[in-house]
Amino acid sequence: MTKEGFFDTNTISPPLGLGIVAALTPAHWDVEILDENFDTFEYREADLVGLTALTSAVNRAYEIAGIYREKGIKTVLGGIHVSMLHEEALKYADSVVIGEAESVWAQLIADFEQGVLKRKYKAELLPMNKAPLPRRDLFHPGYVYANIQTTRGCPMKCDFCSVHIFNGSHYRQRPVEEVLDELETIQKDRLFFIDDNIIGYSKSSAERAVELFKGMIRRGIKKDWLCQASLNVADNEEVLKYAAESGCRMILIGIESEKEGQLEEVNKKMNLKIGTENYQKVFDKIHKHGISVLGAFIYGLDTDSVEDLENRTDYAIHSNVDAIQATIVTPLPGTSLFKRLERENRLLYTNFPKDWEHYHFLEVVYKPKLMTAPELTTAMHDNWVRMWDLKVLQRKMLRTLKATKNSRAAVFAYFASLERHNAAFGTSRQPIDLNKMLQGLSK
Ligand code: SF4
Repeated sequence: MTKEGFFDTNTISPPLGLGIVAALTPAHWDVEILDENFDTFEYREADLVGLTALTSAVNRAYEIAGIYREKGIKTVLGGIHVSMLHEEALKYADSVVIGEAESVWAQLIADFEQGVLKRKYKAELLPMNKAPLPRRDLFHPGYVYANIQTTRGCPMKCDFCSVHIFNGSHYRQRPVEEVLDELETIQKDRLFFIDDNIIGYSKSSAERAVELFKGMIRRGIKKDWLCQASLNVADNEEVLKYAAESGCRMILIGIESEKEGQLEEVNKKMNLKIGTENYQKVFDKIHKHGISVLGAFIYGLDTDSVEDLENRTDYAIHSNVDAIQATIVTPLPGTSLFKRLERENRLLYTNFPKDWEHYHFLEVVYKPKLMTAPELTTAMHDNWVRMWDLKVLQRKMLRTLKATKNSRAAVFAYFASLERHNAAFGTSRQPIDLNKMLQGLSK
């Protein structure tokens, strides 16, 4: 599963939160989304400006808010970072939304219209039925995937994650028929279910996922899609069977580490429950249904030595994971990890907000325990070079083809690894065009 800011592969999927806020805005407003993933910011006239940004880019949001405030135009900041640090954000904007915007946005607009905009709007977590349809017409057409969210919240409390803090610890699910109605409005052929875990944590939530996938088949919604799920995705064969039949090509799974002690260290309970010795069996089951696995690994845990990092890369390369994501432990504001490292005086960059620019998962921002920060930086670079070596990726692609017998699943995995390589090295090893890669492949 992903956490805020993991791999800023920007052009993958659109800013769904902004699309939802636009949908919540009354019809007599004209709404525009200026998306710096594609367009350079140029000042435009506006009555009200809303901004959001990941932690590593929040200074840019503060900067743009400043430009509008200087001209007397009201600004509102929202999103995970701002919700965790609203006092910081209030120094740069007129108003902040703390939490999910759905419960407060209408009031905020009404207050603005009456000239009584408040400094803070503290949102509550609403049930997910009758969720507004995001204004997809406002998204830049250049995104590789369309995206959709069908659930929010997580009952787990992984040390490094802000999902359970921002979206709450109750797993909230949208009614299947409403999700299907929304899916029918999506034009793009490729889709990313951005739920942190599409199958949830219980028998009934897995059954709901099956109903969703069956509904896609029944309604003739044909997409190639990827999602995020926990390792229990393989507990229910029906989940994999209908996921595959409805177009699932790849599942991102937060593996984090191949060592149980380290899973305890980060409080990754689901992986402990499945057991590291069973990882390969889980991947095999997924492959059997023609779906590939994007394994997300975390590097630089307190019990990691340089040798442990090398071993993790060996595991990632030689395991039957099809694509590799490898990030450096990054304490995001609001997480238990941040609080602990701050308490232990181990944060290397604390000149906030400026230093948030370092908190993007590809840079060492804390003092590791079993090596120095420069040693971890060097080791990470070496591991990235090794895991995304073109020969490794090609071997993996062939292995994926053999295991899944699905060329689309293999292309999805290859593309995912290349994207992550490019994000880590800031370069494009070779032009990536998923559309071209998929052209000519039969469904
Ligand atoms: S399982 Fe852990 S990493 Fe995944 S969303 Fe929940 S708290 Fe975050």
